[in-house]
Amino acid sequence: MTTDTLPARSEAASDAAVAAVAARARELLPDTGVISDHAQLRTYECDGLAHYRVTPALVVMPETAEQVAALVRACAENDLPFVARGAGTGLSGGALPHKDGVLIVTSRMRTIREVRPEDQRAVVEPGVINLAVTKAATPHGYYYAPDPSSQQICSIGGNVAENSGGAHCLKYGFTTNHVLGAEFVTPQGDLVELGGAAPDTPGYDLLGAVVGSEGTLGIVTSTTVRLVRLPEEVRTVLVGFESTDQAGAATSAIIAAGIVPAAIEMMDALAIEAAEAAVQCNYPAGAGAVLVIELDGAAVEVGQEYDAVERLCAENGAFEQRLATDPTDRALIWKGRKSAFAAVGRISPDYIVQDGVIPRTALSEVLKAIADLSGDTGVRVANVFHAGDGNLHPLVLFNDAVEGEGEAAEKVSGAILDLCIEHGGSITGEHGVGIDKAKYMPRMYNDDDLDTMQLVRCAFDPSNISNPGKVFPTPRLCGEVPGRHKGVHPLQEAGVAEVF
Ligand SMILES: Cc1cc2nc3c(=O)[nH]c(=O)nc-3n(C[C@H](O)[C@H](O)[C@H](O)COP(=O)(O)OP(=O)(O)OC[C@H]3O[C@@H](n4cnc5c(N)ncnc54)[C@H](O)[C@@H]3O)c2cc1C
Repeated sequence: MTTDTLPARSEAASDAAVAAVAARARELLPDTGVISDHAQLRTYECDGLAHYRVTPALVVMPETAEQVAALVRACAENDLPFVARGAGTGLSGGALPHKDGVLIVTSRMRTIREVRPEDQRAVVEPGVINLAVTKAATPHGYYYAPDPSSQQICSIGGNVAENSGGAHCLKYGFTTNHVLGAEFVTPQGDLVELGGAAPDTPGYDLLGAVVGSEGTLGIVTSTTVRLVRLPEEVRTVLVGFESTDQAGAATSAIIAAGIVPAAIEMMDALAIEAAEAAVQCNYPAGAGAVLVIELDGAAVEVGQEYDAVERLCAENGAFEQRLATDPTDRALIWKGRKSAFAAVGRISPDYIVQDGVIPRTALSEVLKAIADLSGDTGVRVANVFHAGDGNLHPLVLFNDAVEGEGEAAEKVSGAILDLCIEHGGSITGEHGVGIDKAKYMPRMYNDDDLDTMQLVRCAFDPSNISNPGKVFPTPRLCGEVPGRHKGVHPLQEAGVAEVF
């Protein structure tokens, strides 16, 4: 798939542009911060979605915001595309390199510049690992709430670019609710400030546009994040049900009762089987579904909410409810859930991690439709997801060594996204569009919608050098008049873009 709008140029011209940026990088960075050896470049050829692989022309590892700005400026002067990369755990191919471009890796920008408990803020560089923010804030009585399951390895820069979520985002909101300001390098190489310490700033919400923009608007070089007070009490309960229907009904009943747990996570029988095989989490035997429900807050409030949750689960068919007795027990309950993606490797050689979101009220219907789809096609699907906010993660199982299984799994995976759209949801809940889901965007948006969205990209990046080819299936050239093109688009004619 090619979705590039960069002007085609000869290999020699491209090599010369890369050489010019590499020379600038060598002036700015230590030797170890510039990688141009082909074997070493291959280390960076993919993110967490390993079936897309592209070797970049150059990798650079800046240590300061000023270096990022200077490197991006060099790219702009040489018309060279660049892609930001944090920890490379993304699951939509967002950090997939450009073959003629520069990969700007933030892993050497790992300073937590400030922790300010007095106004519940921390200022962190983009390569800082998510969990490190909580570790730095905990001695002050605070933590960083957005907690992707990858939080031990993913970076804050990647979280901001993907607007990442996690188990505790049900109560506390996604990354966007925790980002107050950012230092940001524009695709022209200017270092600017977006947002700030004050709760609101006048004018357009440019920070809001950057959060979730998947690296297509520029590079974040530091973020001011909101810290949340550590709760007085936490209770985690593991609840076993015979079916996902019952577990879904219990989830709806809890929310309808006005209780917003910190997390409600669901796993179905296949996901439980995988987790048991991998980490022996001792989930209720014979369960068709489990819920992991976590309540946090003031002790009195948590006590009252727990009583209500216990009653509502029982009313909806729970046959076992196990309250974590101590932090070790709690960690074991969470271990089953957090290891579920990788655990699926125990029951299937290959799998697709799908990510879609639906209104919570459609959970039972969509889960049933996924089961029917699986029954009809013979493709097994394990479900593990953030039930509280309707964010599904169906794991579509297949064996690539068996002819046709990969294609069948892809089809089921796409059909699940169609189900999400039909039920008023979206093609991604938290993993982003990247390269992988660009082809699904027209299933949600018409041409006018997509054109209008790209006007925003053009305003930031008229040369389309910041992570080109991601998010949008059919790139529009900045400067061209929006609207449908009759017949063949000039880009198609030139062989540099496809319409899906
Ligand atoms: C096992 C596993 C579990 C996961 N669980 C979750 C989960 O629960 N919730 C969730 O939301 N995600 C989850 N993810 C997906 C992934 O971890 C997140 O998307 C994460 O935010 C990516 O961070 P990263 O540092 O690895 O970013 P990368 O993969 O390096 O990059 C992701 C995107 O961000 C852009 N980017 C990176 N840094 C910057 C920057 N400084 N400025 C601008 N753009 C930048 C890249 O260009 C790319 O488009 C999971 C992944 C794995 C492997």
